[in-house]
Amino acid sequence: MRIGIGYDSHKLVEGRKLVIGGVTIPFKKGLSGHSDADVLCHAITDALIGALGLGDIGRHFPDTEPKWKDASSIEFLKRIVKLTYVNSYEVSWIDSVVIAEKPKIAPFIYDMQKAISGAGIPIGAINIKAKTNEGMGFIGRGQGIAAYAVCILRRVEQIT
Ligand code: MG
Repeated sequence: MRIGIGYDSHKLVEGRKLVIGGVTIPFKKGLSGHSDADVLCHAITDALIGALGLGDIGRHFPDTEPKWKDASSIEFLKRIVKLTYVNSYEVSWIDSVVIAEKPKIAPFIYDMQKAISGAGIPIGAINIKAKTNEGMGFIGRGQGIAAYAVCILRRVEQIT
């Protein structure tokens, strides 16, 4: 078995869509970044890359690459899930936390699980939790949103 951890944060700005866990959430601001800046997908992707021992998300999807401009981060996840199979692992479990003062994330969790399962992770293997930061720090001031994720990969036995 392998364990991975991922963390990400992005700044909230005007004039951007708010995409978290592959779901567009109605809000007056969105996350800034080269791709769609989906913090949750980035945290999960980094957890998977970490468990594979293959560096980090920036190495696989550099923000200098025009191809990834405004890209859907579900696509990143899809590619890394494929890479887990290439390396003879499968995703056994993902637990994650999205930390946002506003908007309320909880009502969108099921849609996020469905969107993430579209990247090839079984829906029953994805847990998402939503927290606020109790008004403290950059998250509490509404300047940004952060996410943490951990994953467990299970070795797929080769039957020959
Ligand atoms: Mg990111």
